[in-house]
Amino acid sequence: MKTDKIFERLKKILGFNKESAYVNEHLREANVRSTVYISAVLIAVEIWMLIRYTLKYVITGMCETIWVFFNYTYPYWILLSAGLFVFIYCLLFLTGRINKAKKYSNTIIMLFGLLCLYFGISTSLSDFSRGRMVTCFLTMALYVACLLIWKPYTILLMQPAIAALFIHIIKNYAFNKQGELVVMNEGDQINYITYFISLTMVAMSIYYQRYSEAKQSESLEIAAITDEETGAPNMYRFSQQAKEVLENSDVSKYIYLFFNIKNFATYSDRYGYMGGIELLKKMSGLIKEVFKDEPYARESRDHFVVLTKVEGHENRISEIRNRFLELIKGEVYLDVKAGTYRPKNAEADPRLEINNAHYAVGLIENHDEQYIKEYDEKIDKDYHLRQYVLNNIDKAVKEGYIQVYYQPVVWSTDGELCGCEALARWIDPEVGFLSPGTFIPVLEESRQIHKLDKCIYETVCRKIRECLDNNLPVFPISLNFSRLDFELMDAVGELESLVTKYNVPRDYIHVEVTESSISQDVEKLQQSMKLLHEKGYSIWLDDFGSGYSSLNVLKDYDFDLLKIDMVFLKNFSAQNKNAQMIIKSILDLAKELNMMTLSEGVETKDAVDFLQKAGCGRLQGYYYGKPMTYDEILAKIKDGSFHLSKKFI
Ligand code: C2E
Ligand code: MG
Ligand code: MG
Repeated sequence: MKTDKIFERLKKILGFNKESAYVNEHLREANVRSTVYISAVLIAVEIWMLIRYTLKYVITGMCETIWVFFNYTYPYWILLSAGLFVFIYCLLFLTGRINKAKKYSNTIIMLFGLLCLYFGISTSLSDFSRGRMVTCFLTMALYVACLLIWKPYTILLMQPAIAALFIHIIKNYAFNKQGELVVMNEGDQINYITYFISLTMVAMSIYYQRYSEAKQSESLEIAAITDEETGAPNMYRFSQQAKEVLENSDVSKYIYLFFNIKNFATYSDRYGYMGGIELLKKMSGLIKEVFKDEPYARESRDHFVVLTKVEGHENRISEIRNRFLELIKGEVYLDVKAGTYRPKNAEADPRLEINNAHYAVGLIENHDEQYIKEYDEKIDKDYHLRQYVLNNIDKAVKEGYIQVYYQPVVWSTDGELCGCEALARWIDPEVGFLSPGTFIPVLEESRQIHKLDKCIYETVCRKIRECLDNNLPVFPISLNFSRLDFELMDAVGELESLVTKYNVPRDYIHVEVTESSISQDVEKLQQSMKLLHEKGYSIWLDDFGSGYSSLNVLKDYDFDLLKIDMVFLKNFSAQNKNAQMIIKSILDLAKELNMMTLSEGVETKDAVDFLQKAGCGRLQGYYYGKPMTYDEILAKIKDGSFHLSKKFI
């Protein structure tokens, strides 16, 4: 065991251990960087030498021809050219203009080193033969040491080898003019050996310094691209990798996946934070295994993203789901769902593109059976419409794109018009007609519904005032109040100030509160309703029977009228006795509770007959008229299609 450890350590010290591509790349770049400096020094030295020789040539006239001059100076020209070549190559390499994947840099630097060494040895050999010092060789050996700080074992082999080679050459080939071998004295020999040992040590210490820098920056880099909790790549990394894949291949062959673990919060509550993280790690592992070598990441919480090939992606999603369900057997509330999105081009930011797949998976959140949903054109249209609503509600209110349509309400006994319901319409110059089904849920979700409702209240109050001033027919109008109106604004106060501003009699305004929106803050709504009653408004319970708490609502709140939801009249037929019995019972119940009644969604003569007989007070539905403009209502009163009732209560 101990020897194993020592062996491992030795391997590391000598540089035999396998390093990551990142570390190798870092070391290689550091080498190239030092080569830039060394080659620059060499270029300067060679230019200086050439200037010296040129001056000597001009002053002394020692060379008869240019060829003789060249013969004297050719080593400098060769070294200058090689230096320039290496200098330019290294600069291009460092600025990314040369493909770093092609690993020529080491070979080029090595050849450059050998060339320097060759001239160093040959010059010093002739100097030594003439009794001079061998500084040229020593300088070149220093260059080589600086150029090639590669693995320690190469340094350890290279430097002694250079020293041995030089000593061997000097000992065997240094002849003086007389043809005798010049002998190197022992003191010099010792100095040279010491020089090379020091050089080796300096090169080694530079290597270790660079190695530790590489390791440090590698761990920083890993931290920057890794999700801390699961160890999966993070979105920054995903974005880089996905872009690279898309830029280098056919975009239409790829698809983004967005995985969501359904009910992860419940699991986390049950098994604690660490339990949750363990599950996420397992999910991350599954994805890594199934989508081998493809970009993936943890997006946030229990969300993971992948970029994969379109072909077979559904099978791979199924595999993830099946293996996940196998893994958490017993936790029946958990599931895995995936939204998908096909990228259109390689330029778009993957982090934004993935939002589409996220949106798609959100659409199947409550569909038990479905676990894959592709973001298609229809979804795209809805999504953009939704964004449009969110971004343009203020403008729509300001510019008058929000309009009020009025749907007639009649007495069941004589069919005379006894009021209208104000219903919002968004008529946009850019996207055209929008129905409340499109924008109301979006505005409620984004807590902006009060902006719309305030606008509707004001339009209605203004309209009533206008008609009163011009002696046009006027009738009560019911306004829809969202639950959020009571939270997001002082709904009663707002209505009151408008009613005061336009001097509208309060019995011309009815307040509709939808049953399904009531459950939340009981006291607040009760207080608001009390206030509305005190001021003299009639309060209607909208969509009765559509929610889960219908009867409770009747118990806790004091409504004046009960509006039976249109679901009860859906596909109404004289034969459907059950529906009739239910409606009849609701009407009886309302009577017992002293409430007035209204049925919405009245579409057929059969329904009218039945409701009349059953004793429903008011009727509203396409049978009498769809929501229309106030002018249309006035026109219908004028042409006799509607008879305006004399009593409204
Ligand atoms: P609601 O208050 O229950 O309004 C009745 C809805 O039923 C209206 O749809 C109306 O056009 C439709 N309707 C009326 N008679 C019939 C019929 O015979 N058959 C069928 N199939 N439908 C009929 P609309 O205008 O699309 O409004 C939908 C919902 O949007 C409304 O339901 C209401 O909850 C909400 N809404 C509309 N305008 C506003 C508003 O200004 N403020 C708020 N907060 N909600 C509004
Ligand atoms: Mg309504
Ligand atoms: Mg309704």
